[in-house]
Amino acid sequence: MNTARIDLHLHLDGSLNIRWAYEAALRQGVIEPACTFEDFYHILFEKNFASRKESFRKFELVCDILQHREDLYEATYNLVRTLRERGLIYAEIRFASQQHTKGGLTQKEALKAVIDGAEQAKRDYPGIETGIIDCLMHKGEDALCNYEQNLESIYAVKEYLGRGAAGLDLAGFENNCPFRDYAPLFQKAREFNIPYTMHAGEMGIGEHVLDALEMGANRIGHGINCIQKPEYLKAVLDSQIPLEICVSSNIKTTLDYASHPVRFLLEQGANITINSDNMIFAKTDLANEHSQLRMIGVSEEQLRQCTMNAARAAFCSEEIREKLIRQII
Ligand SMILES: [Zn+2]
Repeated sequence: MNTARIDLHLHLDGSLNIRWAYEAALRQGVIEPACTFEDFYHILFEKNFASRKESFRKFELVCDILQHREDLYEATYNLVRTLRERGLIYAEIRFASQQHTKGGLTQKEALKAVIDGAEQAKRDYPGIETGIIDCLMHKGEDALCNYEQNLESIYAVKEYLGRGAAGLDLAGFENNCPFRDYAPLFQKAREFNIPYTMHAGEMGIGEHVLDALEMGANRIGHGINCIQKPEYLKAVLDSQIPLEICVSSNIKTTLDYASHPVRFLLEQGANITINSDNMIFAKTDLANEHSQLRMIGVSEEQLRQCTMNAARAAFCSEEIREKLIRQII
């Protein structure tokens, strides 16, 4: 069994050490002093949110903890250490720098704090490589509502590309406004040679996968709704665009792994990578994802191929890619 593991789709704010997050929230007054660790835990794992939009509140809570350089630095440091301890050889950690400016940081400073945390953890716990992805956000009914912030994220990544920053993403509420309204922003990213992925066809319609392809995405976050229509699936298969599949995160609390389209997509020959998405909210890590997939009949060879796909699709230098591939073969 090859145990080298690569995670390309991992959100910083959804993968915090919960104990650390609780103490940081108390220290900063993000939660009331009377809030116990158990109360805090309950808020994070509340199952009965009235709507998908409502469930985004838990992301706001963890985001509020990460508004200062030292907290962003420490959260990333802790995460990279945990990933290394769990056998990862490479991880791309994503966050939206525009969500971390309430404490006075610029987006560039927020990105630098995350990069610095990752770099220090790599020095202290060698054997893992990392790249930071900054997420552009779907925020309102109109892509123009945070156009300037999204543009600022692109410039922040441009500044640190190849020096800790790896690329861009499009995240948030996928159905907020027409997907293609973000095309001019990604055109800018292409001008700067910044690679990018997009959350598409996760909670939104499968057609978003076609939009992402047309907008030049290098990878697609989730993309599972491409199975909604044969033409979407065909586009995914023909293009061989890497899909960042996050099974536990998609099935949420049902734990019905067999119902997930991952096996179907593998059988069809899609370019699949296996990822965690949110380690705390999905209560998972990459070892668990692999183990759950084994239980529903995904073979060791298929899992190794998914890891190889991830190495080939990583937003890293060719030198690092070669090193990763050598560890997977
Ligand atoms: Zn995600």
